[in-house]
Amino acid sequence: MRIGIYGGSFDPFHNGHQAMVRSALASGYVDCVIAVPSVRNSFKRYTAVLAAPYRYYMTLHAAEKSGLEGFYVSDVEFGIEGVSYTAVMLSMLTDPVYISRFLQNNGVSCKAASEKHSYYWIMGSDTLATFEHWYRPETILKYVTLLAAVRPGDDTDIVRASDSVTGNFGGEVEFFRLDGVNCSSSAINSTGDFACCPDAVREFIDIHSLYTDNTKLANCSEIAREQFFDNAVKLYPELKEKRLLHTLNVGILSAHLAGVYGAGADKALIAGQLHDCVKEKDIEEQRRLAESYSGDLFADKKLLHSPGGATYARDHYGVSDCGILDAICYHTTGRGNMTLLEKIVYLADKIEPSRTYTDLSDIRKAAETDLDEAMRMTSACVVAKFRKQGRELHPLTGDMMRDLGL
Ligand code: FE
Ligand code: FE
Repeated sequence: MRIGIYGGSFDPFHNGHQAMVRSALASGYVDCVIAVPSVRNSFKRYTAVLAAPYRYYMTLHAAEKSGLEGFYVSDVEFGIEGVSYTAVMLSMLTDPVYISRFLQNNGVSCKAASEKHSYYWIMGSDTLATFEHWYRPETILKYVTLLAAVRPGDDTDIVRASDSVTGNFGGEVEFFRLDGVNCSSSAINSTGDFACCPDAVREFIDIHSLYTDNTKLANCSEIAREQFFDNAVKLYPELKEKRLLHTLNVGILSAHLAGVYGAGADKALIAGQLHDCVKEKDIEEQRRLAESYSGDLFADKKLLHSPGGATYARDHYGVSDCGILDAICYHTTGRGNMTLLEKIVYLADKIEPSRTYTDLSDIRKAAETDLDEAMRMTSACVVAKFRKQGRELHPLTGDMMRDLGL
């Protein structure tokens, strides 16, 4: 097959990106296009973009709903340690075992998926002019033919840029005609107007409240933000989409609430992000991890992931701060004498933007001004849920409720 590869931050994925894919597919040069969201961009400081799982799933949903046959999205960059250079990503993506499995998972027949493929790197004509400054252009050109998009009216510098690339590094450059809207992620980011994004992207942004002041993590240190971004990549293989995005949302909301109530935003960010980190491990593994943190304090299967998460955060995510570990340990039950950090993570877990188990608008509003009142409202929901399920409250939850005056 002739495979087009389209790398980018997709922060957010917008109609201009979609037009590139559509035009490339229509050009006759490629049989399919694989979009590869960057995980740690080498050009921008990677903390300047949304954490990678958001951008990956956003792009995936856009592709699924695009109606474009042969438009796929790869998560290959999650497997790269450190900065994701194109040359490194291409060596992984074009690996015969990887690409064959990837195409088959996307519905391509075993025969077509396993043949020898040729690869095209899809890029804007403006990017062609900067290509020579990329990391190892000569290596990139061994894997791919450059396929540059040309808009009607683009000037002749494109030909000069192309001649310069092939003259200096060899390889081949082809052009295809780009039709469709011209929009840019930076314009979208600065205006906050997402009209230029596909419906699926707008819906995704809405569900997770992305591109808000909260998601900028402005009150966190650069070190904590990098930790958050790195942890998000590490969590990717550990949790399925819904839970992974939930945990990132909890981290972001915790950091915001920490800002409101004068707790440490860095600690809140990491505690919130890691609170469910072992929830998809098998139950015996969860029990073993839980016992190592809190003995047999938690017997209920649904609670094991909380102390278990504390052990795992300590051993696999390098968290040594006891306040963070306790916030993870008690995020499900609460307890008596909760610290501010514990309350924040407890609450953020129950009301982060993608939560829909009940109408949370009043609690979300209360959370901005009166933490204990929001805790009381949340506890009432929890108790009602337990009663409905015929489950007994953990004694620690009773202690928390007494403290709250319930
Ligand atoms: Fe949980
Ligand atoms: Fe949770």
